[in-house]
Amino acid sequence: MNASILVVGSVALDTVKTSAGSVADALGGSATYFSLAARRFADVSLVGVVGEDFPAEHRRLLKDRGIDVSGLETASGRTFRWSGRYGRDAGVAETLATHLNVFKTFRPKLSAAHRAAEVLFLANIDPELQSEVLAQMNGPKLVACDTMNYWISSKPKALKELLAKVDVFFANEEEAEQLADRPNPLQAAEAIASWGPSVVVIKKGEHGSLMRIGSRFYIFPPFPLPEIVDPTGAGDSFAGGFLGYLASCGVYDDVDHLKRAMAYGTVLASFNVQDFSMKNVQDLDRDRIDERFHDLVDRMSVPRADELLKSRALA
Ligand code: AMP
Repeated sequence: MNASILVVGSVALDTVKTSAGSVADALGGSATYFSLAARRFADVSLVGVVGEDFPAEHRRLLKDRGIDVSGLETASGRTFRWSGRYGRDAGVAETLATHLNVFKTFRPKLSAAHRAAEVLFLANIDPELQSEVLAQMNGPKLVACDTMNYWISSKPKALKELLAKVDVFFANEEEAEQLADRPNPLQAAEAIASWGPSVVVIKKGEHGSLMRIGSRFYIFPPFPLPEIVDPTGAGDSFAGGFLGYLASCGVYDDVDHLKRAMAYGTVLASFNVQDFSMKNVQDLDRDRIDERFHDLVDRMSVPRADELLKSRALA
């Protein structure tokens, strides 16, 4: 049986403008991006809420790809909506509007099967909801969470309380610096780690990512892409590749597995940004993921001097 991952987060209709074009009311949301990225590695169940206006085809898309949507409630009202735009610096989203809609009154209640999941991902959503979900779990082997500036500004106390209970924290550079009130990502990761998470992952968009374990930092380049169409959801796809890979191995505390998880996160994020909404991730298969993973790992590796001498001697 595959390992199981439970994700709680937003399921959204996004209106996005980038230098490559725009989309209106496209399928979005942190839990949606995460699920589509993680499903090639593990069984994924999604907990969230949508409104009566949520198109049936979007629910079908998730279901058809093997994602358990029995925890995706339909409430009376409108679906969560986010709109944003990206300037020339594709890494930083400018939020134009956030309409919580059905999320204002959402109170997640997990089924017995959902409570038993091995890995819990608390994707970007109200930190109070993230804590409510965590409190209902039986004892997952790994708990990870993500957030964004909206929640860092509006609910800093709830977020800090949550961080004391998670193993892995994901944030982008600006969010980590804002949350920790520190001027650079290394100092921010150190401060955040002191509040609880043993692994802190900081994403720097087109400049790659950092992982802090213990007091050591590991650095990762991005997969090089000449054009970024839409960065929305890259962080959630990153988390999907990262946690999906760890769940598929059932190993959560080994540095080498965590390094490979960073590379899988990088790969899923890179596919994500090559098209709008879920278009470039929804039909990805494991072979294409692994092909890019090996390509990335190959480009990252620097040969040792003795290996170079050995290969020249053999030539
Ligand atoms: P990312 O680009 O990985 O940070 O995630 C983008 C997704 O987050 C979009 O699809 C949005 O619908 C969703 N999102 C934006 N703002 C919020 C928020 N305040 N809470 C939860 N989800 C959000």
